[in-house]
Amino acid sequence: MTAVNPHYLKLQGSYLFSTIAQKVAAYKAAHPTQEVISLGIGDVSQPLVPAVVEALQHACREMGHPETFRGYGPEQGYAFLRQAIAQGDYISRGITVSADEIFVSDGAKSDVANFQELFAQDVRIALQDPVYPVYLDTNVMAGRSGTYQNGRYGGLVYLPCTHENHFVPQLPTTHVDVIYLCSPNNPTGTALTKNDLQQWVNYAREHHSIILFDSAYEAYITQADIPHSIYEIPGARQVAVEFRSFSKTAGFTGTRCAYCVVPQEVSVTAPDGHLVSLRQLWLRRQTTKFNGVPYIVQRGAEAVYSPQGRTQIQEVIRGYQQNARVILEALRQTGLQAYGGQNAPYIWLKTPRGLDSWSFFDKLLTEARVVGTPGVGFGACGEGYFRLTAFNTPQKTQTAAERIAGLAFE
Ligand code: PLP
Repeated sequence: MTAVNPHYLKLQGSYLFSTIAQKVAAYKAAHPTQEVISLGIGDVSQPLVPAVVEALQHACREMGHPETFRGYGPEQGYAFLRQAIAQGDYISRGITVSADEIFVSDGAKSDVANFQELFAQDVRIALQDPVYPVYLDTNVMAGRSGTYQNGRYGGLVYLPCTHENHFVPQLPTTHVDVIYLCSPNNPTGTALTKNDLQQWVNYAREHHSIILFDSAYEAYITQADIPHSIYEIPGARQVAVEFRSFSKTAGFTGTRCAYCVVPQEVSVTAPDGHLVSLRQLWLRRQTTKFNGVPYIVQRGAEAVYSPQGRTQIQEVIRGYQQNARVILEALRQTGLQAYGGQNAPYIWLKTPRGLDSWSFFDKLLTEARVVGTPGVGFGACGEGYFRLTAFNTPQKTQTAAERIAGLAFE
């Protein structure tokens, strides 16, 4: 018999979304006339904007014409898109990033999942708790986690993010080599300030660590002092890789396009002590294992940076931001403590005394016919919290909010 990769056996079953689906199905079966509204989804509800659709259609026609047809594209992404990203997301904001430091991909999920391959087996990993599960599970698969006991893997460094520290991860007291930071954060909706991030950049420079900075939700930032990019922080180009996505920015969850930035300055050490460029390594990895994002999709992503595209996607994002405000206001009326929602499409609430994450889920489902996500599904520090998202339609969000506002808590 062929032996299994033993590290896969250390993965904890992800019962979160299947348990939610089972509970919702059981409720609907018992109450067939009742409408259940989901504020649990992490997927967008609004369609692609017209500027993107036009660009996709135009690119389709090019692919059907003998003179403009294209086969394999550059693994790093077409220059037209990398230049549009460099200009639109960085240079126009006064941030130094060049097109050849940008790698276009089919998703920030794949990028954050794959990037750890570049590091040695015994690097020490730090991640936030609660956490976007991909950072955790991919390091378990890679064999870096140690064994699982009492809700935690022994080989990882967890950075608790709770009400007590305002959901801002504190610097570890021990040395770590790789730090996953997600801001604005999924699931807590918290965004790190320049000052918070500067401390992490200083730590990484001092400890020769690498920060993997996931800013998939930067488009939702409303406050001026919240950085959109880690490269707004002095010194970050030497220590940070940044991951971004068109998924929640421009509705590409089904179309698939994202990118990461690996600055020329970031390096890792070889066993003999010489420095190796992380950008060169990632390029080597991508050219070996990846054949690029479809030309059609990259043209669609390019249209996000056109004047019409920008205006149109900003309007969609404003709609989701308004949903977040509606949910926050409803929670305020119930007296529940709620966080996030201001710079992120996620609202994180503290469950009332006596109700754990799952009991709160049941109450919300049976008394308000609203579905959310129990915080404990994102890590031990998520127990006693609950996530709602702003991605449903304005009408359904409004109805859900009214039902939540009518709930009574002791
Ligand atoms: N990073 C975070 C923090 C996310 O929440 C998500 C999706 O939910 C992703 C990355 C994945 O993005 P993509 O659709 O580009 O793979």
